[in-house]
Amino acid sequence: METITVKTSTNKYDVTIGAKLRFETSKFITKPYSSIFIITDSNVESLYLQDVLTSLQKDHEVNYTIVPAGESSKSVRVYFDVITQGLQYGLDRHGLIIALGGGMVGDLAGFVSSTFMRGIDYIQMPTTILAHDSSVGGKVAINHPEGKNLIGNFHPPQAVIYDVETLHTLTQTEIRSGYAEIAKHSLINPEPFWDNISSVNLKDALSEEVLMEHLLKGIAVKAAIVEQDERESNIRQYLNFGHTLGHALEAELGYGKITHGEAVGIGMLFAMRVSAYYYDNHNKLPYQELLTWLRANHYPFDLPRLQITKLVDRMKKDKKARNHNVQMVLLKDLGKPAIELIDDHNLAILLEKFLRELVGY
Ligand code: NAD
Repeated sequence: METITVKTSTNKYDVTIGAKLRFETSKFITKPYSSIFIITDSNVESLYLQDVLTSLQKDHEVNYTIVPAGESSKSVRVYFDVITQGLQYGLDRHGLIIALGGGMVGDLAGFVSSTFMRGIDYIQMPTTILAHDSSVGGKVAINHPEGKNLIGNFHPPQAVIYDVETLHTLTQTEIRSGYAEIAKHSLINPEPFWDNISSVNLKDALSEEVLMEHLLKGIAVKAAIVEQDERESNIRQYLNFGHTLGHALEAELGYGKITHGEAVGIGMLFAMRVSAYYYDNHNKLPYQELLTWLRANHYPFDLPRLQITKLVDRMKKDKKARNHNVQMVLLKDLGKPAIELIDDHNLAILLEKFLRELVGY
């Protein structure tokens, strides 16, 4: 079992990572809460809810709600229904919410916690690899039909309990999705650990030891950044490396066609291309290595033909854009991210060339 402590402006919390932690959930509840309300999704429920309930029910009043699995549950409707359920169970200002699931559940339950009776405590229990990223840092949100995460808040958890054993039931697609964010952390960290990740074959059964090593490294990168810039006014934006095109691809293809991490994988490649153009540093960046690793691990490149103008438009509407100019995180060197405003015209030319070469159209 390993622990990383994250300091925030309002509290400090431990991210504890190890095998079988879900059976010990009760040990991590350190305050006398009036009741506990678990929010989980329809896939995770059948796998892990009972283990968590069994651990908690001895000492606490526990209720739960199950939302449909998938990104569509990060909606105003589901948010409202979850709040209603909480109220019906008698959850009050002294209660605790537990988010048991991947990033979707974490973001939804976190947003519920941040607004329920003006904000109550919550604990993240991530069950996906991707959630090593989403469960740390306190960003919580639901989606608006106009775009992802447009209704949100900053609300740090009281604790993150990460049971790596739960990751054994993830599909290859979800493993790929999560590993793209680990790869991102490995590329932007001042002490890059990309060599560590590029040697991993995701089709092999990953041992808990290897998984823990990579997750700990990824969480440490995220924790160090959010401690310095909790509200994303500065270096927290580095975490968006690969996300400008990634988000545009997810939206333009239709959510769910490819996963978030798969889109970010392609987005990171493109960000390196743009970096090479702006800084003339192609030789310094592991573009070819990343491409080889993504291909070897079956990240999907067989995208349908997409209109460049529509993608550029999406990138301009991203909530990270400034005055409708596309803002991208580039790499000056491995481990040296920087933020640049990119001219639309150049962006369109670079994107067209990139997609033509990558997808072959
Ligand atoms: P997810 O929560 O939708 O999980 C993906 C799928 O895996 C779902 O079908 C889920 O039911 C299933 N699943 C979860 N745990 C499982 C397990 N142990 N075994 C088998 N199946 C399991 O998605 P995700 O990829 O974990 O997270 C994506 C979400 O995270 C997006 O909404 C994204 O916006 C958000 N996110 C937030 C932040 C942040 O800082 N708040 C950062 C990155 C991503």
